[in-house]
Amino acid sequence: MAKAESDVEAVRQRAARDQRRMDAGAVSSAKELEQLAHEIESLARRRGDLEDLELEVMERLESAQANVIHLQQRQQQLAAELADVERRRDEQLDGIARDTAYLTEERVRLAADLPADLMALYTKLRADHDGVGAAALRQRRCEGCRLELTAMDLGRIKAAPPEEVLRCEECRRILVRTPESGV
Ligand SMILES: [Zn+2]
Repeated sequence: MAKAESDVEAVRQRAARDQRRMDAGAVSSAKELEQLAHEIESLARRRGDLEDLELEVMERLESAQANVIHLQQRQQQLAAELADVERRRDEQLDGIARDTAYLTEERVRLAADLPADLMALYTKLRADHDGVGAAALRQRRCEGCRLELTAMDLGRIKAAPPEEVLRCEECRRILVRTPESGV
């Protein structure tokens, strides 16, 4: 914009200087006068072109300024959204931390009541089987290895007393009977 303005101004000054020379009668030669008149004419055209350009630049500047305002608004909007998402994330992380603390305590409390040999077996199985030492028996399926038990195994489980520690014949994890075991 400043460049466009200064270009117009330079042409305007040059034309004004030529016009003054002409008006002052400083040029006497007809040929020089003709040249001067010709230059004034072409400077007027040039000035017109440059003013058109200046207008175009002004329009582009205004459009860019409008775009800047739009982007600033969008930035504020996104910053607010980000703050909201971060707040919700932090709430969830707090919840997870509370749950973890509670479950860790619960686990310690429950483990204290279990026989030492059962805990030792569970700990070993857990280490050997990707962190899952015991699995629920649900719909005749071991939830540890996902395999369906044979009719023979199910019959054996059905006959076993409640305190007996059962194992999956496939993955060897401890099988926990549930109301949905299907036996
Ligand atoms: Zn299994």
